[in-house]
Amino acid sequence: MMRTHTCGELRPDHLGQKVTLAGWVRFSRDHGGVLFLDLADAYGTTQVVFDPEIMEDRAAVEGLESLFKTFGRESVISVHGTVRNRVEGTEDARNPTGQVEVFIESAELLNRSRPLPFEVAEQKGSMLPGEDLRLRYRYLDLRRTEMSNNLRFRHRVIAAARRYLDGAGFVEVETPMLTRSTPEGARDFIVPSRITPGSFYALPQSPQLYKQMLMVGGIDRYYQVARCFRDEDSRSDRQPEFTQLDVEMSFVDETDIQGLIEKVLSSVWKEIYGKELPTPFPRVTFYDAMHRYGTDAPDIRYGLELNDVTDIVERSNYEIFHRVLSKGGRVVCMNVKAEYTHATSADDTMVGRNEVDRLIEWAKGQGMGGLTWMRMIGGELTSNIVKYFPDDVRAGLIERLEAKEGDLLLFLAGSEIAALKAGGELRRKLAKDLRLLEGKDHQFVWLVGCPLFQRDPLTGQLETFHHPFVRPDGCLGEGGDDTCMGGRSYDLVMDGNEIGSGSMRCHDPEVQRQVFRLLGMSDEKIESDFGFFLEALSYGAPPHGGIALGVDRMVSIMLGTESIREVIAFPKNKKFQGLMDRSPAPVEESKLAELQLLSLAGDEEE
Ligand code: ASP
Repeated sequence: MMRTHTCGELRPDHLGQKVTLAGWVRFSRDHGGVLFLDLADAYGTTQVVFDPEIMEDRAAVEGLESLFKTFGRESVISVHGTVRNRVEGTEDARNPTGQVEVFIESAELLNRSRPLPFEVAEQKGSMLPGEDLRLRYRYLDLRRTEMSNNLRFRHRVIAAARRYLDGAGFVEVETPMLTRSTPEGARDFIVPSRITPGSFYALPQSPQLYKQMLMVGGIDRYYQVARCFRDEDSRSDRQPEFTQLDVEMSFVDETDIQGLIEKVLSSVWKEIYGKELPTPFPRVTFYDAMHRYGTDAPDIRYGLELNDVTDIVERSNYEIFHRVLSKGGRVVCMNVKAEYTHATSADDTMVGRNEVDRLIEWAKGQGMGGLTWMRMIGGELTSNIVKYFPDDVRAGLIERLEAKEGDLLLFLAGSEIAALKAGGELRRKLAKDLRLLEGKDHQFVWLVGCPLFQRDPLTGQLETFHHPFVRPDGCLGEGGDDTCMGGRSYDLVMDGNEIGSGSMRCHDPEVQRQVFRLLGMSDEKIESDFGFFLEALSYGAPPHGGIALGVDRMVSIMLGTESIREVIAFPKNKKFQGLMDRSPAPVEESKLAELQLLSLAGDEEE
């Protein structure tokens, strides 16, 4: 071995021992001829000292002196020497190795580093170099303890999940990367076939169809740490490729899958935090999520729930509300409790007049007309518009919102969906502004009772709420409005973020065919796109269901990182470019010709 210890290992217990360390020269300081180097690796930093005065072997001193002149920061060296106490007063309490140092007797340059594009130091947040620079030289960025810890943490999460699933009899199966497109609602990345010119593979948006066919194949407990590819528009915290913990089981219902995931996550929690994760996770229906929390990914760790007060305020004389209501809109209200604002009296509140004015501006920025407010002071609702609200209306509001002294009522009016969504955003904003989440543990919630279909708000086109393989929660084609059918699906929400989604599947090929038809697919289209899949289902597909958890997002929330890029070794930047290998990149014409893509492009031009 080239080293006896890592750079994070030496303690006073090692005093007097001869050791060999290898690592990167992070910093060096010359104190009147005595050279202090911070030697770093993934485990820590150890101070190593070259003191020519004390060394007896003059030839060695000269050799080392000239060696130390030849390399710069982040070069790799190995040093051999003795562990000794640091000079009194120079110990570094923040560094676990900070009591000791290694007195160098010999050293070797293992490899040199060019001058650095940025300093590899323990900066955080705004002190870090720009993200594009970090991504361009990701290997240097990964040398920072924070990044290295993130990757190790991610590994521990995945390893704990794998251990649990393995123990529970699950089989990890790799499914193809070169596939026929699996519709998960996004665009596919396409791979041209050289051997069958003019034909293309798609990179999988998820292993959905393969895992279902594994169930038909009798592999009744499957999982995979699976890479998924979706060619969506770049958004700040998305990646074109991401990792799912993908699971599928036969002969189960939704409670079995949910129970399994609760056990997987409990074992992850034990491993990572050394504590129990409270299970079962609470369940919130899609209807309640939208109406009480204004989102399908509710964070239930704080109140600020929404209340529809349309039936009360329609009896007011408030023109603004009436205008909205006449167009079929709704009014929702939130009670910002006095204790949330840490107020001790009506005047002493964190959401004072100025803050309310700012919230009104914020609401306008959300596309709302504004925001109406009232405050409970002296047992009465007060505000500049309260005169438009007769006594019985005010009493109705106080009762519905359970308004108490110092509470602030905020009203949003608009179309139902706009009012609810703005209410959901307002909850998130206030939770952050009022620091309601401080000290709160993570919270998982199952979102259940989702519809099977939804309509595209722009085109009115019927589309699936999740994907077309979700089993309907009832019988299709029996006379009711099938487009309003529920789906046997469930989402896993963590701290107000969707981190997983799954369902029971249509194992009956006829039900699957009906779903495709409802989505407007012709029988020819169904046959050409999904004939192989319906065929598989027709050979005795067992009842089955599954789920996939987004690993990147979950780890990022656990670590509290700004973005999922912080927990991915080599992510793409916000424009989905790989800055290190400069992908995507043009390819030589000869390669395009081989794939017969040049002639395709040429044909189009003609
Ligand atoms: N394949 C689905 C997805 O990626 C998850 C599932 O239904 O298992 O969202």
